[in-house]
Amino acid sequence: MNKGFDKATFKRTVVDNVKNMFRRTIDEATPQQVFQAVAYAVKDVIIDEWIATHKEYEKKDAKTVYYLSMEFLMGRALGNNIINICAREEVKEVLDELGFDLNVIEDQEPDAALGNGGLGRLAACFLDSLATLGYPAYGCGIRYRYGMFKQKIENGFQVEVPDDWLKDGNPFEIRRPEYATEVKFGGYVRIENRDGRNRFIQEGYQSVMAVPYDLPVIGYGNNVVNTLRIWDAQPINTFNLDSFDRGDYQKAVEQENLAKTIVEVLYPNDNHYAGKELRLKQQYFFISASVQRAVKKYKEKHEDIRNFSDKVVFQLNDTHPTVTIPELMRILLDEEGLTWDEAWAVTTRTCAYTNHTIMSEALEKWPIELFSRLLPRIYQIVEEINRRFIEQIQSRYPGNYEKVKKMAIIYDGQVKMAYMAIAASFSVNGVARLHTEILKNEELKDFYQMMPEKFNNKTNGITQRRFLLHGNPLLADWVTDKIGDEWITDLPHIEKLAIYASDYKCQQEFMNIKYQNKIRLAKYIKEHNGVDVDPRSIFDVQVKRLHEYKRQLMNILHVMYLYNQLKDNPNMDMVPRTFIFGAKAAAGYKRAKLTIKLINSVADVINNDKTINGRLKVVFIEDYRVSNAELIFAAADVSEQISTASKEASGTSNMKFMLNGALTLGTMDGANVEIVEEVGADRAFIFGMSSDEVIRYENNGGYNPMEIFNNDQDIRRVLMQLINGYFSPQDPELFRDIYNSLLNTKSSDRADTYFILKDFRSYAEAHKKVDRAYRDEAWWAESAILNVSHCGKFTSDRTIEEYVRDIWHLSKVQVEM
Ligand SMILES: *Cc1c(COP(=O)(O)O)cnc(C)c1O
Repeated sequence: MNKGFDKATFKRTVVDNVKNMFRRTIDEATPQQVFQAVAYAVKDVIIDEWIATHKEYEKKDAKTVYYLSMEFLMGRALGNNIINICAREEVKEVLDELGFDLNVIEDQEPDAALGNGGLGRLAACFLDSLATLGYPAYGCGIRYRYGMFKQKIENGFQVEVPDDWLKDGNPFEIRRPEYATEVKFGGYVRIENRDGRNRFIQEGYQSVMAVPYDLPVIGYGNNVVNTLRIWDAQPINTFNLDSFDRGDYQKAVEQENLAKTIVEVLYPNDNHYAGKELRLKQQYFFISASVQRAVKKYKEKHEDIRNFSDKVVFQLNDTHPTVTIPELMRILLDEEGLTWDEAWAVTTRTCAYTNHTIMSEALEKWPIELFSRLLPRIYQIVEEINRRFIEQIQSRYPGNYEKVKKMAIIYDGQVKMAYMAIAASFSVNGVARLHTEILKNEELKDFYQMMPEKFNNKTNGITQRRFLLHGNPLLADWVTDKIGDEWITDLPHIEKLAIYASDYKCQQEFMNIKYQNKIRLAKYIKEHNGVDVDPRSIFDVQVKRLHEYKRQLMNILHVMYLYNQLKDNPNMDMVPRTFIFGAKAAAGYKRAKLTIKLINSVADVINNDKTINGRLKVVFIEDYRVSNAELIFAAADVSEQISTASKEASGTSNMKFMLNGALTLGTMDGANVEIVEEVGADRAFIFGMSSDEVIRYENNGGYNPMEIFNNDQDIRRVLMQLINGYFSPQDPELFRDIYNSLLNTKSSDRADTYFILKDFRSYAEAHKKVDRAYRDEAWWAESAILNVSHCGKFTSDRTIEEYVRDIWHLSKVQVEM
């Protein structure tokens, strides 16, 4: 309950907004119009707190973290915002009185999908936690005109549709033209010697105006409102006669095009580097604007830029924002007149880097030609950083040219962003314990040996405000009934639930809530997929980006195997199971898209086979995104976290499932390791190779899947069904590429690089255990409740407190209203 919230005023504002914005009375308004009106009314409620928060930061002259990220996967704002101002009940009542259903109104809002998957959602969870904990923070990113594409499934294939998320406007954003900043690309550098000092002047460049839009990030019940600042690009001086006369007509057109294209669309690649020039432009665009603004703001209050790091810390979310380093150096050298050593001292005390993956295809390596052409002054600075770094390597390892080769920032015609990020950051962190250990001992071993003090772990987390309080209101209320509401801002309190885990009545209540949530999801599936699913079946869920290392393929191959068993033995004793998938594939990732088609083809056959009595169902949920994710987690019994060990840096959906009482079926990878440590190995279903085993095989040239193919009849049968038209009679060759990827009949790459066949039997065995375990209702309910009660570690509040303690060193601020 929000004591300051005035229902009558709020109601009047909503009605007035509908009139002023749409010239309609409230009873004539469409749900979309009511959404707009309510969102603006909520903005009215928080605007004073937003102002007060920034006044307080100014007054305290508080150190601020800038969380620099190409991606913020925010999802919808309205529902979360009214929860965080503690006025959900009141807003619901107002809407009831006006004849509208809050859930329907919330559904009008498009997701703000300015991200691909885990990395972008992590940034969003961090912003929620930073505001709730009262830490001064900005998220800095790009206001993509089109976010993550909408996924349609047509004839079983993924079709990408542009995500026109701004088409009805964004009621929560505020344009801040007063902070517009110029960002320059291309041209050349002229060196001018003035008073014995070299000046570096960029000439013949093209530039765009970066214009920020601010979005409020509301802390839970604490009057704090932080800011997510996303940058739009505008042409610098649109057509004027001047430039026309001077013959700069061509340049004016080009600058206009640059401004239009730069923020046009989010690249839909997850964990994959594509090396596109426009992508580097996007990176430098939002980084230059953010860094310039941070320096300017600092200088409004402070004399000596050499103390910049006392007030500012830049957290680089993966290597995408690594140009922060040379851009800050440029400003300090060329505009602030610091010496190299002074500038370097400031930069290396300000920047910290988070590593999100060890997979080589994800590492950003820009060709020198491209990099130096687009960012000529920045490239000069990178060269100098590299030159000095190599000197450092050589003085540490005299005569060891191998080390230089392996660690140089510029080598073999490429700029290696991760190496620059490590060389210039005071902190390098991994995102789960296992991942950080692999970084230190394998992937970044040379860097760890040279500068061990930089390396640290920050196991990821998620916000319980969105993924339990908002996404699963029935369970949230039940938890609060049992143990009070401290868990909302202090998740470890949820451990108090453990004493109810073995209580029969509590188990019944818990399972009934799960059942209600399964009915809610079944309705969604019926509406959106036209498939009937039985809420009494086990909901076995894998939702995440489609990627070979995440092994959705292993999951669907196992479904095929189960189906074969059912066909052979129609009386087979099994608990009805609904396999639920949700995943977007990068638009250019052929094999991932073919896997989606395979899932849908298998679903078609199985769901229409009357002989199996509905004991097996397969559903592919279209357009997986934050808003439907909330429904899915709440309804899951089994959480599939089956990546090849060592490949998933952390995973965060594993935590969201746990929070909602699903049991993990997974490998010892990423944060699964820590989940199992918290809940106990006997409350999860763990299978498969360890990361050590995987790494050992990889270092020895892989393994031979043909042996498995030749010796395991069940597996062979499933694989043959990929190429005999069993699931694609019209086109028996359709899935040939998937078959080849597992057995490598022709291609030159190694076969089954993700060890699907190698792990298959132990995966099938784990599924059998799930089937047996689910029959023991009491055990299952107890285990589900224990999962909820042991998920305290996985709140992003804990992660943020660790970043603050070890890296950012911020102080909490209180906002009195
Ligand atoms: C949490 C989340 C992810 C990350 O899922 P993983 O299974 O950890 O890869 C991706 N997309 C959405 C919409 C999410 O909410």
